[in-house]
Amino acid sequence: MDLYTLPDLPYAPGALAPRLSEAALLLHHGKHHAAYVKAANEIVARLADAESAQVPALERSLDFNVSGHVLHSLLWQSMSPVADQVPAGPLAEAIDVSFGSYSRYLARFTAALTTIQGSGWALLMWEPLGRRLRIVQAQNHESSLIVGATAILAADAWEHAYYVDYKNDKVAWAAAFTSMTDWAAAGERFEAIAMVATPSA
Ligand code: FE
Repeated sequence: MDLYTLPDLPYAPGALAPRLSEAALLLHHGKHHAAYVKAANEIVARLADAESAQVPALERSLDFNVSGHVLHSLLWQSMSPVADQVPAGPLAEAIDVSFGSYSRYLARFTAALTTIQGSGWALLMWEPLGRRLRIVQAQNHESSLIVGATAILAADAWEHAYYVDYKNDKVAWAAAFTSMTDWAAAGERFEAIAMVATPSA
């Protein structure tokens, strides 16, 4: 049995249109995400019998593919058919503390998404030591991350994420992503990882 499996989309493939077309979503999920899952499983199988000298390169390739799998799984959960949501509750408070306001968060997240050189991601991460939200530009899938921080939103900035619908217009893709961000789901993830349980009296 395979170690990694492609998750189903949490909505119908046309549910995010017109911000993200059914064709683009089916290609992204069924071809790109599926390819990372397939490669990760193949590398795990090869590692079992690999010569020691081959292992570091295989492990790096496994990092790339598993990270791609994890980030795409979070990407599907980061977008919602319910458009124009805004953060609420503890996550909204953390955004205000960390960035000053939601509008400043939007400007900074958009800048992160649109200025990546080459392939990468814009991530909203919770950094538990400083107890702050951070906006992080990941290169490829797995580089430039913060050790110990957890992503609660993921926006794909690889060309395959937006080229079908937006051609080379990354700014339009960023506007689409921010208007279909699933803040309800992000708030649940945030509370699960960042909220310390209050001891009962
Ligand atoms: Fe992608």
